[in-house]
Amino acid sequence: DHVTTDMATLSQEVQKFAEGKKLEIEALKVRDSYRKEFMGNISHELKTPLFTVQGYIETLLDGAMNDKKVRQQYLERAAKGVERLVYIVRDLDMITKLETGDLRLKQEAFDIVELIQNVFDLLEMKAAKKNISLVFETPYAPLMVKADKERIQQVVTNLLVNSIKYGKKDGTTEVSIQEHSKKKIIIKVSDNGEGIQKEHIPRLFERFYRVDKSGSRKEGGSGLGLAIVKHLLEAHKERIFVTSTFGMGSEFSFTLKKAKKTAVVTDKSGVV
Ligand code: ADP
Repeated sequence: DHVTTDMATLSQEVQKFAEGKKLEIEALKVRDSYRKEFMGNISHELKTPLFTVQGYIETLLDGAMNDKKVRQQYLERAAKGVERLVYIVRDLDMITKLETGDLRLKQEAFDIVELIQNVFDLLEMKAAKKNISLVFETPYAPLMVKADKERIQQVVTNLLVNSIKYGKKDGTTEVSIQEHSKKKIIIKVSDNGEGIQKEHIPRLFERFYRVDKSGSRKEGGSGLGLAIVKHLLEAHKERIFVTSTFGMGSEFSFTLKKAKKTAVVTDKSGVV
């Protein structure tokens, strides 16, 4: 009788083990198809700018070089293509680091108001090209937060670049800061641009996901900007929210930890 019970237990164990292995194999299969899809996406992303650069260089070598004006124009376009490649590779590098957990975050106290103003300065020209006004309102100045400054600069930059890219001509991009909880603030980046249809919203943060592929490529997007934003904020244990009305505009907001012992100073003017 003992032996039979033991055999039954053993057979149960074997079955459990086999089921465990089956699940492991399934997980590996999913990961493998994910990896294959990623590789496919990468080569697809790189192909377009590479072929562009190749085309201009070949045309130059075939004789277009002799015309000074054409030479200048083609070299500029080739340089633009190379610049795009550099951006894509940089974004790929970042997403890989984030997904493999190879990115070490600093925890430093810095003034988020100053950081946003710096990003505004850097993007002024880009906004001016579409006559988009950049508006920043905050009742707080300075406002010390605790995070990795360089990475948060990237988050703010990606969100602002998107609001300009997908913002309408003569439109407005607005950044505001509000209190979120005792320990957190929330930064909102909103535009009155094209907006996003509801069904796309849950997928926006997937790498390479775009609502309008040709539109995004034309604007020089890699499709990785929001995936990087989400990963960076998750690594900080912070959250991101999106609200959007198609045809009206979008708002992306994210939380940040206040630096300890920092009383939020209110400058009643409300505008910095
Ligand atoms: P991309 O390089 O294509 O801009 P992102 O990951 O930054 O990649 O964004 C993914 C997609 O989300 C974009 O292609 C665009 O369709 C949509 N999107 C992002 N930000 C906005 C915005 N402010 N307004 C409208 N659509 C947006």
